[in-house]
Amino acid sequence: MKQSVLQAGRVLAMAGHGDMVWGHVAVRDPGGRGIWIKAPGRGLEEVQDRHLQLVSFDAEVLEGAGTPHIEAHIHLEIMRRNPAVTCTVHSHAQAAVAFAALGTPLLPISHDGALFAGQDVPRFTATGALVSTAALGRALADTLGGAPAALMPRHGLVAAGAGVHAAVMHAVLLERACRVQLTAMAAGPVRDFSDPAEAEAKRRQCWSETQLKAGWDYLLRQAERGAQTAADLLPPSP
Ligand SMILES: [Zn+2]
Repeated sequence: MKQSVLQAGRVLAMAGHGDMVWGHVAVRDPGGRGIWIKAPGRGLEEVQDRHLQLVSFDAEVLEGAGTPHIEAHIHLEIMRRNPAVTCTVHSHAQAAVAFAALGTPLLPISHDGALFAGQDVPRFTATGALVSTAALGRALADTLGGAPAALMPRHGLVAAGAGVHAAVMHAVLLERACRVQLTAMAAGPVRDFSDPAEAEAKRRQCWSETQLKAGWDYLLRQAERGAQTAADLLPPSP
């Protein structure tokens, strides 16, 4: 389970969700004690076992060292509100921030965009500053509701899922959908995208549990190959 936090961090960083040491992924503790999340001060891809914390639903560190991330409330309140959610992601993915600034609906232009089945992505508008209190975390959890992900204008995104594979894929798909739409809008007016019926059908076809798992497995293999290549390039230790 701790391993899945590390894997999710490496996959998210590889997929463009890194922002130096900011952004995090949390996995629900199987014993119900809270969430497993990295301590502050490390990038998503740098995290080792020793950097993990078990943070209670009262935002207290039960295992591990240091204080929790200021924005741990994001994960705690989403998981408190949604018992089926076992993993949450918060990142400052740049395409998501840029797209949210346009204030325009997210369209099902690509398979990625069909994740929302033709509905616009939820947006958390209470603040563009840090989600630094339980009250803000609850407001964000309310905004997300049962959606796979939400934009946080002037800040980033949040994603959730029943499993690490689902939460990470939801974050990856939202960022990609934003990037595709930014690319299209930069070139001209967007004229062709799925109607609600096609978007709903594509959500079921493209983003079933099996497909989400297959996408996650691919990203994990890619991240592990990258890590191995980096290790191979290191000079031999004396
Ligand atoms: Zn943040």
